[in-house]
Amino acid sequence: MKIIYQSTLTLLIAVLLMPVSKLTAQTENDNKYNISSIKSKGVQVPEENFTGTAWVNMVVGPRDDLNSAIGKVTFEAKARTNWHAHPGGQILIVTDGVGYYQEKGKPIQTIREGDVVKIPGDVAHWHGASHNSSMAHTAIGTNRDEGSTEWLGPVTDEEYNSTASQVK
Ligand code: MN
Repeated sequence: MKIIYQSTLTLLIAVLLMPVSKLTAQTENDNKYNISSIKSKGVQVPEENFTGTAWVNMVVGPRDDLNSAIGKVTFEAKARTNWHAHPGGQILIVTDGVGYYQEKGKPIQTIREGDVVKIPGDVAHWHGASHNSSMAHTAIGTNRDEGSTEWLGPVTDEEYNSTASQVK
């Protein structure tokens, strides 16, 4: 019993005497669970549901069991999603550049870095870059248990070019 006590005490003293830097380094390595990074552009999006070149970095998905899907989407100039609707809605936070957002039957709106777009459930819409600038947004899929995105066909060049002023 005395031996166990003494060895425990020795271990405790050894830990207390360890350099703080060593303990900090160990903590950083051990804390990488549940952390992802939104900094990278991610992978190129297949053109199946998009027009032009776009990139996606999904940072929160179904496996996280948080009833949301969060990713960064980066569109090169003129690139855009197809028309689509999200049963549970979506929030877009524009983080870079200038882009467009349009709901079916309404005019195209210009969106810029810092803008927050709140898209109600089941509303047909598209989002993408403007004619002369790339655009990046964080897309937050809300209420994901209400169903997955319904894709409704491409935004034609005629629809895309119908924006009142082609923003630079
Ligand atoms: Mn959307």
